[in-house]
Amino acid sequence: MTVRISIGRVVALLLVAPAALSQSPYENLTREQIMARSTDEIAPGLYAFGSFGERSIFVVTAEGVIATDPTSAEHARAMRAAIGEVTEQPVRYLIYSHQHWDHVLGGQIFKDEGATVVSHENCLAHFRATPNSGVVMPDQTVTGGESISLGGRKLKLMYFGRNHGDCMLVMQLDGTDVLFVGDLVTPYSVGLGFFPDYYPGDYLRTLTEIEALPGWSRMIGNHGIPVAPKEALVQRRRYLEALMDAVRLALERNELQGDALYQSIELPEEFRQMRGYRRNIARAAERIAYYYGMGW
Ligand SMILES: [Zn+2]
Repeated sequence: MTVRISIGRVVALLLVAPAALSQSPYENLTREQIMARSTDEIAPGLYAFGSFGERSIFVVTAEGVIATDPTSAEHARAMRAAIGEVTEQPVRYLIYSHQHWDHVLGGQIFKDEGATVVSHENCLAHFRATPNSGVVMPDQTVTGGESISLGGRKLKLMYFGRNHGDCMLVMQLDGTDVLFVGDLVTPYSVGLGFFPDYYPGDYLRTLTEIEALPGWSRMIGNHGIPVAPKEALVQRRRYLEALMDAVRLALERNELQGDALYQSIELPEEFRQMRGYRRNIARAAERIAYYYGMGW
């Protein structure tokens, strides 16, 4: 009997393991690997640069470089060095994906070499309301739909309304199948359970709209592995949908309240394999309960 159970377990593991590996490669990375510096050419001229667990992209053209998300003085210095290893061209544009301090600090090094700093116009109000001396104020703002053109390349800046903050720009370099989605998706991860500055309803709408966009099959996020297939965004959208459905149904049943309700939420196995699921699910359920209870 014991032997039969053991064999059953081995067979189950053999069946589950390949799917788990393909679903969550991020789970296999060590903290050192996540924090390590890396420069990856994701498509011709399009680079992902990561350090200290934060990621930016830069675009190299014959007439200069477009960089995003300086992140911190240290990250910006490291990214500037990484750019210098690829090209002698100056950085002509610095674009903020969104306003959060873990992405926008440290831009001075690029401003000093003459870069034009660009953000969505809604970021300005945040920079003024919550000042930080590490933020270089944008020279130019956009409303979404514009492109930054340089050296024969075009970086399209797309805006989907509020989702994570209200000034998130999603970017796509022409001729590539890659979207830079900022903090909207950390591949194969559930993200932070309290959904900091995410508006759940608008966030789900945005992910659905991005998923439906034609012409892309890979994504880069502000955190996590350098590049992931589109499936990573689809997984995050499906996770959010499953979470919101589960919490709504639990609220409608009206059997449990408060912590007991949040701790009762359990999603299907495919979502339990996402990075951070166990640590974050009850808090995520609480956040969504407030969305349904309060409308925010
Ligand atoms: Zn953010």
